Amino acid sequence: MIERRVLVLPGDNIGPEIVPEAIKVLKKVDEIFNLNIEFEYGELGGAAIDACGLPCSNATLEKAKAANAILLGAVGGPQWDHVDLEIRPEKGLLAIRSELDLFGNLRPAIMYPQLSHASSLKPEYVSGLDILIVRELVGGIYFGKPRGIRTLVDGEREGYNTYRYKESEIRRIARMAFEAAMIRGKRLCSVDKSNVLEVTVLWREIVEEVAVDYPEVKLSHMYVDNAAMQLVMQPKQFDVIVTGNMFGDILSDIAAMLTGSIGMLPSASLDINGVGMYEPCHGSAPDIAGQDIANPLATILSAAMMLRYSLGAKNEAKAIERAVSSVLDNGLRTGDIFTDGMKKVGTAKMGNAVVKALELSAL
Ligand code: NAD
Repeated sequence: MIERRVLVLPGDNIGPEIVPEAIKVLKKVDEIFNLNIEFEYGELGGAAIDACGLPCSNATLEKAKAANAILLGAVGGPQWDHVDLEIRPEKGLLAIRSELDLFGNLRPAIMYPQLSHASSLKPEYVSGLDILIVRELVGGIYFGKPRGIRTLVDGEREGYNTYRYKESEIRRIARMAFEAAMIRGKRLCSVDKSNVLEVTVLWREIVEEVAVDYPEVKLSHMYVDNAAMQLVMQPKQFDVIVTGNMFGDILSDIAAMLTGSIGMLPSASLDINGVGMYEPCHGSAPDIAGQDIANPLATILSAAMMLRYSLGAKNEAKAIERAVSSVLDNGLRTGDIFTDGMKKVGTAKMGNAVVKALELSAL
């Protein structure tokens, strides 16, 4: 029997409001499909700092290592701005990502036809948009050493970082992206800056090597500056994009905005065995915390990704995605995606509506 142990980390601000909605949905799926999901809870980020003085305790790390998947809300907020940089809430997130070696960040940017007016691009450019960005998450310039700010002999200060990728790091993220392309549109665009950066000359070479094992996938390469432009000009040309940590960080935010609301976007961060951490792409939204107005759909859709990628329950994932779509069809909207003529609902009501839609689909 497939083990389905889930560690739930609500996090901070809107985290403890949106995560319970995803749990409600998962419990309903469990009831309908008998998945035997076991839930365990822990603290991460500001909540963990308040509880034990560290953004990620050893106890949380141990629970994370023992789980098949982790569902996270979001961490951080101005409440912890005074805390030492080394133990800020976001460090807890980085600790789990690197301790569990969650190197593969999958960020789908899907345009729900019901929301095509919410994009900053004209509907004809984005309707039907369905891109998957595969971003390397634990290497590249964000982690490369040496790094720091030093004082030169002439007394001037200099900031420096190191951009490096080993062959093995490139190979495993490329493989993850090719696998993803195989179950989608079989097109993969690798984004680099190989006209300037040696690291990405190697990146391109290794991606080409991995491509030999995936003859069905049509591989293309694009420089990152062009990719940013193409995403805004003709986003529907893309199926799967694979890129390094920093380029992926930037391009996935561009792709997110194409879909209109950050409140709709899920993400997954996976290790080599498919164990993963699932979280909405947005942050902890302190400006709207405690008001029951945050959109829980990105977290609910993250729970669907968790079923698909870590818990061996693809059909159940689809059932959640269909339920979300039917709730949008019914005109229900949280404030971030609201337009005239629609029915404005809060966080809990939106979660309840998805549960109801699941119930109806199971009849
Ligand atoms: P944010 O994503 O929290 O908020 C940006 C804007 O989007 C805000 O106006 C917010 O109200 C809105 N928003 C975000 N999620 C929403 C939702 N579900 N429904 C409706 N509206 C939503 O980004 P920020 O303000 O830059 O960051 C706030 C805090 O979150 C910071 O402490 C930051 O470090 C942290 N953060 C955490 C993560 C994470 O946990 N993975 C990611 C990004 C930012």
